Amino acid sequence: MLLRQGVAVVADPAQADVCYVNTCTVTGAADRSSMQLVRRAARSGARLVVMGCLVERDQDRVKDIEGVSDVWGNADKERRLARFGPSPERSRALLKVQDGCDRDCAYCVVSGLRGAPASVPASEVEKRFLSLVDDGFREVVLTGLNLGLYNDGGIGLAGLVRRLLDSDGRARVRLGSVEPDTADRRLLDVLREPRVCPHLHLPMQTGDDRLLGRMGRRYSTGRFAELVRQTRKARPDVNIGVDVIAGLPGEDDASFRRTEDLVRSLRPGYLHAFSFSPRPGTRAASMDRVPSAATRRLRVSRLREVSVRLREEYESRYVGSVRRAVVETRSAALTDNYMRLRLRCDRAPKPRSLVDVQVVNGKDGGREGVVTAFSR
Ligand code: SF4
Repeated sequence: MLLRQGVAVVADPAQADVCYVNTCTVTGAADRSSMQLVRRAARSGARLVVMGCLVERDQDRVKDIEGVSDVWGNADKERRLARFGPSPERSRALLKVQDGCDRDCAYCVVSGLRGAPASVPASEVEKRFLSLVDDGFREVVLTGLNLGLYNDGGIGLAGLVRRLLDSDGRARVRLGSVEPDTADRRLLDVLREPRVCPHLHLPMQTGDDRLLGRMGRRYSTGRFAELVRQTRKARPDVNIGVDVIAGLPGEDDASFRRTEDLVRSLRPGYLHAFSFSPRPGTRAASMDRVPSAATRRLRVSRLREVSVRLREEYESRYVGSVRRAVVETRSAALTDNYMRLRLRCDRAPKPRSLVDVQVVNGKDGGREGVVTAFSR
């Protein structure tokens, strides 16, 4: 809306009249980088609005920074930003359909800040989806704090996805992260739909059953492995990404080895590995036997190395094949199965559009996509 009124986005805060900073508090590192960003923006002299989870958790700390003009908690943020619409620089639309969580994971600070689960009514989601498609988006990513808890009077996440697919045939749908205990048979069935991206991101967190119990996670490693197996059965080309937290309280060498072993046996397409960070106010913050910072760093870096190998292993299977990809920039695209490619094409395809690409190995070892067809 602001953009349509002639407001321009600038890269350098020093040139801005107004700065909006969206904060995160999921880890100590996120806190620190949010505060750094706020201080940097405050030095610009622009009117400064700070929003998001750090504001929700510690409003006074943010307000006290000289130069902060206004602070918006999460409810305020949602209400005010809804007017702006998606950023014109986005090639894929993020559509938030759910917020809040009633789980009680010991390390999680975010669920307490966002309140009880709440879902955007399916009719409203459909309306927003159609408007995004009319704006030219051909990939819409459904997001939520605990997306699998989506429920509008009995319409769950799978039902919502079917409704969106039926409402318009032009765009594809990608699911954001889904908690393992909410991924049911209906969700796996909907993954078989050709216009649902074969990509599922699952927070596993640890491969040690004792730690899963201690952290209040509602599944076992056996159940997680079965979910991965069933997901591949439903959609054999699926790219499964897995979150892992290294250094949870009580994680000794043996439990970390169990995590590595589980990852190696499941062979996901990539990992997102984080270091445990005790968040004030969470149960995990007062738990004992937290591995040292150096051990946590070492374990994260080991997991990241494993992730590089896993990604290579998954992606190399698709070299030579043709995948449908959404154009992100004139030279980059993202395939349905979550492979980011450098585009090779005689004429630059339109960002946001879908193209068919043949996956090839680039000269420098990266992956490229040779455009074989443009979408209608
Ligand atoms: S399921 Fe996710 S959002 Fe909910 S408490 Fe656990 S970590 Fe937090």
